[in-house]
Amino acid sequence: GEKTPTDLNALTEEYLRLAYQNVRLKDDSFQADLRLKLDHGLEKVPVIPQEMGRVLLNLYSNAFYAIQEKRRQQNGAFQPQLAVSTHLNNGKIEIRVKDNGTGIPKEIINKIYQPFFTTKPTGQGNTGLGLSLSYDIVTKGHNGEINVETELGEFTEFIVRLPK
Ligand code: ADP
Ligand code: MG
Repeated sequence: GEKTPTDLNALTEEYLRLAYQNVRLKDDSFQADLRLKLDHGLEKVPVIPQEMGRVLLNLYSNAFYAIQEKRRQQNGAFQPQLAVSTHLNNGKIEIRVKDNGTGIPKEIINKIYQPFFTTKPTGQGNTGLGLSLSYDIVTKGHNGEINVETELGEFTEFIVRLPK
């Protein structure tokens, strides 16, 4: 792939629909409140669209998984929510992906970007490569950053920052 000026708002939204459809194909009882807040003032950003698409898909599918997991743990009053937003912040483009799923335990937070690290059962396509690949695409491939904020049992938010 090559870098090409890309409408990141469109990419962010397109892959969100795709990821949501994917989960719902496997579990038609699954529903989440999708909150999309796009900064329509963003200019196009030079990225490799397929690669940034993979990053988004990884983040979204992890988020939906964490929501499904919390749904299994809880009974009743849980409103699944995925909030996705784009921003221009200090001259960087930011994409935020925040789910209200299980959260990430402190003990494993420094391992999540390691290749093959997973807490998920094997044999369902969760190879533990999603975040490792995403990290490489964002940092090495696009000179950006990826960060996470999380609170156990409450939320996880991944923040991707890209240069303009
Ligand atoms: P995989 O999804 O195949 O397990 P990833 O590299 O995508 O591999 O993620 C690694 C691990 O990071 C996951 O197994 C999970 O424990 C944790 N993780 C990633 N995203 C989230 C999230 N949104 N909420 C909770 N845990 C997460
Ligand atoms: Mg994953």
